[in-house]
Amino acid sequence: MTKATGTRSAATSGKSTGKRTRSAAETEKIRVALVERRDELQTEYDVSITEITILQRDRLADSAGDDQADTGTKTFEREQEITLANNLLERITQVERAIDRLGEGNYGWCERCGNPIPVERLAAFPSATLCVSCKQLEERR
Ligand SMILES: [Zn+2]
Repeated sequence: MTKATGTRSAATSGKSTGKRTRSAAETEKIRVALVERRDELQTEYDVSITEITILQRDRLADSAGDDQADTGTKTFEREQEITLANNLLERITQVERAIDRLGEGNYGWCERCGNPIPVERLAAFPSATLCVSCKQLEERR
């Protein structure tokens, strides 16, 4: 007579699967925040491009009557505006990449401790890769 005492089969529960899951609602919240952010940046970018076009047109239209200094200022303004536009474009790309990664389930986790990064933080800093406490630890070094 063999007594089957196979009741210890479920004893391996201490082993974490390490599977990162966020609720669908929370993922959606992050997505909405990111998309909003992207739209905001896109609007800023469009304004910036319009500004550049206007500055360019002004420069061509009345450069004849301008003195040297005036032309210099306008060129400088336009260059600043172009720099701003490029920065915005970079940030738009960053947010779009974040949205992609979110879709793959690879976005919004702290690189250091693996905990989920709060939605509010991600909305404010789409490029955040650390949670607040890990970020503070990092800065203290
Ligand atoms: Zn962390």
